Amino acid sequence: MNTAQLIKDFPLLSKLIKLEEVSWFETKATNLAEALPFVGLNGDDVADASARLQRFAPYLALAFPETAASNGIIESEVVAIPKMKQALEAKYGQAIAGQLMLKKDSHLPISGSIKARGGIYEVLTHAEKLAIAAGKLQESDDYQMLFTDEMKSFFNGYSIAVGSTGNLGMSIGIMSAKLGFNVSVHMSADARQWKKDKLRSHGVNVFEYEQDYGVAVEQGRKAAESDANCFFIDDENSRTLFLGYSVAGERLKAQFDAAEIKVDSEHPLFVYLPCGVGGGPGGVAFGLKLAFGDNVHCFFAEPTHSPCMLLGVHTGLHDEIAVQDLGIDNVTAADGLAVGRASGFVGRAMEHMLDGYYTLSDQHMYDLLGLLAKSEGIELEPSALAGMPGALRVSGDSDYQARTGLTPEMMSNATHVVWATGGGMVPAVEMAKYLAQSAS
Ligand SMILES: *Cc1c(COP(=O)(O)O)cnc(C)c1O
Repeated sequence: MNTAQLIKDFPLLSKLIKLEEVSWFETKATNLAEALPFVGLNGDDVADASARLQRFAPYLALAFPETAASNGIIESEVVAIPKMKQALEAKYGQAIAGQLMLKKDSHLPISGSIKARGGIYEVLTHAEKLAIAAGKLQESDDYQMLFTDEMKSFFNGYSIAVGSTGNLGMSIGIMSAKLGFNVSVHMSADARQWKKDKLRSHGVNVFEYEQDYGVAVEQGRKAAESDANCFFIDDENSRTLFLGYSVAGERLKAQFDAAEIKVDSEHPLFVYLPCGVGGGPGGVAFGLKLAFGDNVHCFFAEPTHSPCMLLGVHTGLHDEIAVQDLGIDNVTAADGLAVGRASGFVGRAMEHMLDGYYTLSDQHMYDLLGLLAKSEGIELEPSALAGMPGALRVSGDSDYQARTGLTPEMMSNATHVVWATGGGMVPAVEMAKYLAQSAS
């Protein structure tokens, strides 16, 4: 790869290489009608995913009592964070137009991160397929029957493998083990010890590698290939994972309807999503676009050390380039975001639906973590704060607003949602270490 030429063609790359925080809002975004064909999935696919989660809800309510209160539906709250808005405005000297809210996927039941959407959905899809093919289940059955010794021993004849930096492994591992599968999680060097311990306590086989996420995925894939009964969950290319995440769109719309929060052509919605390989934020953004149309504007946030999606989409090279090709090290404290090469599927599917991409430093994430804990009493893991500067950057970018047809009046009616992707299960001692890193 001729990186000198690439940097000449795309001057933004020199800032990425210097690990400067950047915003790229002059993207390939177009309207929903034009962007939809690039995804290759549509509203029917999301409705199918939604119906599958509904079928499994009685099982989940039984198998995971913490989901009983929501009748087995795995969903998080969306809350206003006015004190954090004030704190951000004061700290950064930039007003935020409209209301600031937090979507607490950090506190999703079962695995405490956004992966409780896609990861669990993919395991359920696989389990349903196996059970139906074996004549042991019909869609019209009460899925509580899956929580029996007979079905557990049936699933025990099959295995599931996944490569993960941590949170995906937690979702896939806990869900698979509960159903009865033999499950192996291949983890990269940066995965936290407490996550490995937690998985082992659920009976999950954990394999550890010195190298990064890409290597863990490859090892997981290899191990799965040698076993015909093993299903490998491919975080980089899975449409199933993507659809599991996408159900979040209609769920947020229902929450907004219940809270009488308006989203229409005069009341824009901005959503800021931390991005690793891209499936989580990509699937959520897809679901949001289907639910809110062109009135929602989605942004992806990445660490300055791992800007893989920005790099792939900006250069048009997608998964043919990795941050390491530019000498960027892909070392970050942000679990789930330490990904050097973005999903080619997600980048190509979603580049016409996304209004912007930006990066922020690890220190900035820690500072925001401290600020949120102090102002609102909400504790998250560092990656979950990546979305937080989005409202400041959008509010401060009058060129972007003008290009997108957003008037000052519309901006003052805006709702900004920061998608908090993880942190609900971080042990207190680990959280204390995070808070100690904050300069806020
Ligand atoms: C996985 C993860 C993300 C990003 O999801 P991708 O599908 O990898 O893009 C963001 N935040 C947290 C905490 C995660 O675990």
